[in-house]
Amino acid sequence: MLYKSTRSQAQAVASAAQVIKQGLAEDGGLFVPESIPTLTQEEIVSLCQESYPVRAAKILAKFLTDYTYEELLADCTAAYHAKSFVGGAAPLVHLHNNFEVLELWHGPTAAFKDMALQIMPRLLSRALVKTGEERTALILVATSGDTGKAALEGYKDIDRVKIMVFYPVDGVSRVQKLQMATQTGDNVNVCAIEGNFDDAQTGVKVIFGDEGMAKKLNENGYFFSSANSINWGRLAPQIVYYVSAYCDLISAGKCKPGDTFNVCVPTGNFGNIFAAYLAKLMGLPIDRLICASNSNNILTDFLRTGTYDRNRDFYLTMSPSMDILISSNLERLLYFTAGSEKTAAYMDALKSNGCYTVDADVKAEIDKNFVGYYADENETANIINETYQSYGYLSDTHTAVAISAAKQYVAETGDTHPTVIDSTASPYKFANNVYRSITGKEATNDLDALDELSAATTTEIPYPLAGLASRAVRFTEVVKRDEMADAVLKYLNI
Ligand SMILES: *Cc1c(COP(=O)(O)O)cnc(C)c1O
Repeated sequence: MLYKSTRSQAQAVASAAQVIKQGLAEDGGLFVPESIPTLTQEEIVSLCQESYPVRAAKILAKFLTDYTYEELLADCTAAYHAKSFVGGAAPLVHLHNNFEVLELWHGPTAAFKDMALQIMPRLLSRALVKTGEERTALILVATSGDTGKAALEGYKDIDRVKIMVFYPVDGVSRVQKLQMATQTGDNVNVCAIEGNFDDAQTGVKVIFGDEGMAKKLNENGYFFSSANSINWGRLAPQIVYYVSAYCDLISAGKCKPGDTFNVCVPTGNFGNIFAAYLAKLMGLPIDRLICASNSNNILTDFLRTGTYDRNRDFYLTMSPSMDILISSNLERLLYFTAGSEKTAAYMDALKSNGCYTVDADVKAEIDKNFVGYYADENETANIINETYQSYGYLSDTHTAVAISAAKQYVAETGDTHPTVIDSTASPYKFANNVYRSITGKEATNDLDALDELSAATTTEIPYPLAGLASRAVRFTEVVKRDEMADAVLKYLNI
């Protein structure tokens, strides 16, 4: 299986290892596989018997053909081990009627980014060997909180890789700061900067683009790499849990092999829902893909009108991982429905005008698979409360947006298919907002909110967030923005 850019008509030439190491294609497009491997009904039925790591290795083997099955199985077994995914890698929990919740947050940072970031670093480490790379990769990350922690947990103690995370000193919550400052692992470093998230991100971009830095790293056996969410190595592992959820629907007697089901995904960068679409293209019998947005409902508008227009207000919501105006992975959907020439033109228009409209035939193709709904802040809080009071299920803010979207869809269509709703974070990850939604009271602060939510609901704080205040703090450094490059060199001792 070879890979090509979404924006190029040239033949596919890159191996999976190469695209995982490289991240973005040279022309600025995203890497896509040259063809879609098939998943037969017999294969799906046989996967029902298997553990999550085996399901993952078998699906990944179809895309990462330059990795052996044994390598993939070893990596999946290590990544999705019961010690880090307490409660299972991707358990399916019945909510009510035809709604099933796919909990993707049982990993080491209690959020769904772990599903990809626990496996991708292992794939990168092997990619270095497979591509003859002799240097060590230095992953630089600028974070507004959650991605940095998930990346640290994913890359820690991985061979031939080091990671350094920058965060805005006053731009993350107390819980997020503690999570990063207490990070374990011999190949990790965390540094706060004076400034906001944009300053951190710009600073990292400047370092990435600095030829002097690249030369200095190269001379010392290092090169820069990124943990970016558009990397194919983060996307491919997300296909697995849709197949896994269907296996679990079959095992629970809720679907017979071949029966169709819907999925509903709280969406930001469009990676998660795009993985579901790929599963469908492979042969998984998904009927509707329901795209759920918060008040930043640019995707709802796009799916309803065919126009993507980022010239609009941006809102800070209680589901911050979906606060986004540029949904990067949508480019991959455009490629599969419109081809590379039109995709390149749409992306040019987005860059120059902040806006594009897809052709009628492209819109019709997207309509066959996707529908979009959104929930504002009030609705999100109401759903958290209703889901807890009526069904005893505690959902986080992002998951609540998806539950609302699934409800709206069913109310509008009367669709009775089983609907798998992705739950992308533990309610404890956003404890103060969840606490306020179900009690009407403010939590004392975001750290105490964990205990207060636990007491109010008699549920347990998940292990990644429990006892945070008593863990040893390892990283306290704060630097100015123009000192970030020096902090990197100091960390590498060069
Ligand atoms: C990243 C994230 C999302 C959005 O996923 P995309 O793949 O970017 O669409 C939703 N919820 C949570 C909690 C996340 O961390």
